[in-house]
Amino acid sequence: MVVVELDQPEELLVKTRWRDGPVCPSCDSEGAEARDEPTRAEWTTWRCRGCRARFRVTTGTVLHSTKLTPSDWIAVAGMEELAPPQIAAAIGVSRVTSRKIAAVMEPAHDGSRSERLRHMMSPRHRRQPAPDPWQLDPLPATLRAEDSPLGSLSDGAKAILNALRARPFGATAAKLAELAGVSYSQTLRCLARLEQRGWAKAAKTSIHYGYELRRATVWSLSWSDGCMHALSYLRDRPTRPLEQIPDRVPRRFWRNFWSGASADTLTISQHGLHIAETLIGGHDVSARAWALSNLPTPVLRECRTLRGFETGLNAELLDLEIARRAAAA
Ligand SMILES: [Zn+2]
Repeated sequence: MVVVELDQPEELLVKTRWRDGPVCPSCDSEGAEARDEPTRAEWTTWRCRGCRARFRVTTGTVLHSTKLTPSDWIAVAGMEELAPPQIAAAIGVSRVTSRKIAAVMEPAHDGSRSERLRHMMSPRHRRQPAPDPWQLDPLPATLRAEDSPLGSLSDGAKAILNALRARPFGATAAKLAELAGVSYSQTLRCLARLEQRGWAKAAKTSIHYGYELRRATVWSLSWSDGCMHALSYLRDRPTRPLEQIPDRVPRRFWRNFWSGASADTLTISQHGLHIAETLIGGHDVSARAWALSNLPTPVLRECRTLRGFETGLNAELLDLEIARRAAAA
């Protein structure tokens, strides 16, 4: 039997609802912060660190938007008999209000005090929960829904897990956020949670970023037994196509430009000729191949007239590509 301090009735409801502290009813994030200013009827307002939603311990429960105080409800939970006259006498409310309270508490009239508290903190709507879009339907005969390790995972974390599966060689958090359609900050939280479970791992690596190599954290699946087990329950959904920037020189070719020319500001529509001259005339074979197949035909024609492109290999390559496009058109 737990002795409860009577001056902290709200604390009792909070503990009944969330054993390990507040969980946002909107996005299931943990670690909400209490707001300082006093609120109506002595209920603490929490603010979610994830989605910024504000909520109280009563949000979404049968006590949703109650005008009574936490002490009133604790008194109701401890009453001998939950009949309207007794309720009205015990907490000093009108007959109408006492009948409403009796109706709300109806399923727990015969319950113990803690059963009544649990009823107060139970969901207001008894409707069927929305089907989980990440749940396999139907499950293979070898898997049982109640064994699913995905049950306690948020939809965001499932989307990130799915994005990781689509990138077996790893991806940065920013890329995963884009693939999964989840905000960057939520992606970081989801990755931390997946890492905690031993399903995802992070590694520092160097990637080409324009003119320089940058250190980046690349995330990938851990391929542990637990991870494989979880994936077998996760529906495979197409990830979002990454944003295409067709008017720009791909980052991996930036280092072919003089660093003074800042390739990051070049667009094919405005600086096509400069890009053609640099990439087709340069020594980087893959950059040349990219330029030949991606730059517009008028740019290639104009490039062909520049000094250095009248004869030789580059002239031949340009002529071939221009002829190939003319034949395809
Ligand atoms: Zn939230």
